[in-house]
Amino acid sequence: MKILITGGAGFIGSHVADACLEAGHEVLVVDDLSTGSLDNLNPRAKFYQISICDPSLSQVFEREQPDIVNHHAAQISVPRSIEAPLADVETNVKGTVNLLENCVKYKVKKVVFISSGGAIYGEAEEYPTSEAYPPKPLSVYAINKLAGENYLYFYNYQYGLNYTVLRYANVYGPRQNASGEAGVVSIFINALLAGKTPTIYAYPDAPEGMIRDYVYVMDVVRANLLALDRGDKEIFNIGTCVETTTSLLYKTILWHMGMQKEPLRGEARQGDLRRSMLDCSKAFQELGWSPIFTLEQGIKETVQYYLRTRSER
Ligand code: NAD
Repeated sequence: MKILITGGAGFIGSHVADACLEAGHEVLVVDDLSTGSLDNLNPRAKFYQISICDPSLSQVFEREQPDIVNHHAAQISVPRSIEAPLADVETNVKGTVNLLENCVKYKVKKVVFISSGGAIYGEAEEYPTSEAYPPKPLSVYAINKLAGENYLYFYNYQYGLNYTVLRYANVYGPRQNASGEAGVVSIFINALLAGKTPTIYAYPDAPEGMIRDYVYVMDVVRANLLALDRGDKEIFNIGTCVETTTSLLYKTILWHMGMQKEPLRGEARQGDLRRSMLDCSKAFQELGWSPIFTLEQGIKETVQYYLRTRSER
């Protein structure tokens, strides 16, 4: 199949592109390189450096006629979405609608839309949180991801456009950008490698930091491959159903790096949810997906990747 991957030069999208190529598909990447990098881009993928908001996106669709659109491109920072809401609306709402308009016009067979299980449920009252829990988004980013899901529902109802939504937990692994404020695993590892002291952000009554569900990127990639021909018109949480505090995550990273270092402590930032952990039984039952990597294994792989890329530089 011919698969157009938006955000395919970014962290997760580039791994999805690699796996689709490996599985024998033809891959096109649409990315404006705002946070992505050419270093991540698979040379076997055809690359269009263009924003999903750009009206000339239609020319890419006209020329390429993709079968599947896998939509990873997004403004991904929760704090930035609160500081500059219109910029988030621009990419995550207007960009998504521009993309969906082209999907309808050029008869795309299916859209795989990437949403956030780590954001849209807000401070949930049920843990693990299942897809049936009514989302209560507490950031502009989360509101707009939920809007994307609603647009898909509408485009299916109105035009018959097929889709699957994947709501990721907190994804980590090789290639994650350490310069933003998302991606705590790569931020910690890169800070430690640079001789700096990482900061653990926490609410005063929960000094161990936030509780998160960390899922390894290679597990997330498998969910994307399965969604190519399963899970039509459905929404799936993609996580591990395991809770980890930021302090435990930090200790696990230190252990795999063979280091000892007391972290700095900072106050929780705008939009930081206290707790997030996903029930992923629906993905198991309907996609045949479950995570393979434990946190220990995933952190080990990620640390080795950063050590390797550092020694290659
Ligand atoms: P990333 O920043 O590495 O990837 C996003 C990519 O989209 C980048 O390559 C960027 O250049 C590109 N992009 C941004 N705006 C664009 C635009 N207007 N037009 C074209 N390309 C654009 O981030 P990531 O962590 O790989 O996130 C990928 C997707 O997964 C996003 O939709 C994000 O919201 C979602 N997600 C990520 C996580 C996580 O923990 N990393 C969790 C839940 C959901």
